[in-house]
Amino acid sequence: MVRASSLNNLFDRTLALSLQPPMTGDNLLIITNGGGVGVLATDSAERYNIPLRFAPEDVQKELKKHMPEFGSAKNPVDLTGMAGKDWYFKSVRYAIAHEWVDGLTVLYCETAMTDPMEIAKGIAQAIKEADVPDKPVSVSFVGGEKSAAAMRWLVENGIPAYNEPDKAVNAMAALHEYAESRALAAEPFNRFEDVDEELARSVIEEVRAHSDRNMTEVESKAIFRAYGLPVAKTELAESEDEAVKLAEKIGYPVVMKIMSPDILHKSDAGGVEVEIEDEAGVRAAFQKIKKNARAYKADADIHGIAVQEMAPWGTEVILGSVDDPTFGPTVMFGLGGIFVEILKDVTFRVAPVSADQSLKMLSDIKGAPILEGARGEAPRDRKALSEVLSRYSQMITDLSDEVSESDANPVIVYEEGDGVTIVDARIILKDKKAE
Ligand code: ADP
Ligand code: MG
Repeated sequence: MVRASSLNNLFDRTLALSLQPPMTGDNLLIITNGGGVGVLATDSAERYNIPLRFAPEDVQKELKKHMPEFGSAKNPVDLTGMAGKDWYFKSVRYAIAHEWVDGLTVLYCETAMTDPMEIAKGIAQAIKEADVPDKPVSVSFVGGEKSAAAMRWLVENGIPAYNEPDKAVNAMAALHEYAESRALAAEPFNRFEDVDEELARSVIEEVRAHSDRNMTEVESKAIFRAYGLPVAKTELAESEDEAVKLAEKIGYPVVMKIMSPDILHKSDAGGVEVEIEDEAGVRAAFQKIKKNARAYKADADIHGIAVQEMAPWGTEVILGSVDDPTFGPTVMFGLGGIFVEILKDVTFRVAPVSADQSLKMLSDIKGAPILEGARGEAPRDRKALSEVLSRYSQMITDLSDEVSESDANPVIVYEEGDGVTIVDARIILKDKKAE
């Protein structure tokens, strides 16, 4: 799939996608007769994530033969305003066939000395003779009626041509994105075999028997655990005394939280207490949480209060999923807190997502350097996090007939080698009655 940014862009991109092959590498070469349009195209390439690299020495040396002394063979290759059909023909024929070049954009500014149709024919002839049908080309002519006619001719002859350098580069970006999506779709997903789908389904069945569609954190974590996801040790206490026993078993400090299918956002209800250090703290927290929950929603069905290990400080991230009506199970990744809530710095993939692909997702977001170790901070355990993301994507894919949406918010990520801990988990089941 390739995305278009507007209706016109949809037509521009479709033109390229229908006439040209995908661009499988990211070495784009630009040939131009004008420095100005060359600079515009360079900026566009940067904007569309195919930044231009200098052409290798041998390419530069050969192209130098088809331009005056003051031309430039770097990239964009500037044949200068003196360029006629012959220079265009020779440089295009050579460049498109060179192994370094993955795609070619040819720019032309109409001049008094040259005829646009002649230039168009030179370009088309060069592409035909080079005979490399797996390499894409786009063209932009900037000029008047003659240029417009030449571009119509190019399109009729299978070469996408546009009246703006930006559009020609955007066309190459579309062909590049298309190649990337195809490679992505072809990538195999190696299932994690150490998962217990049956156990996960039995938990869902139990939940269906007593509640509606909202699974509590304790129930959700049971499913996460069945899929080998590293959740913080969590147990449900139905009484204050039981909470004390569990806290001693788990070890102080502990966190305590309200468990109710009617209270999804626990802290909003005053239902989360952290850093509880001793028995007195547990007893006080138990009463306080219960009272807050009653005040928040008098008729809430309260399962009890969860006691869990308090995870040490680390970088907070968020995983999420929805079963999209069009794309099916889809996963989301972002950094926690303001990054998601205010900056909307998140990335999505259709599940399942391999561990390799998950690692790429971690680099998709603007805040990626925070995980990579910015400003002297130690790098975070991206490897462990990418495995968690991949497992999570398998979980929501396997259970997509039951799970409508889910999240793990937050997941705490530690320094390289120290792994990650999921401290909160939430699953919302599908509405079977509505189906
Ligand atoms: P909510 O339902 O409000 O999202 P959470 O379980 O996410 O409740 O708890 C709120 C916050 O408390 C979390 O964002 C996290 O910062 C902190 N927290 C929750 N559980 C733990 C834990 N086990 N260890 C450390 N911090 C925790
Ligand atoms: Mg949460």
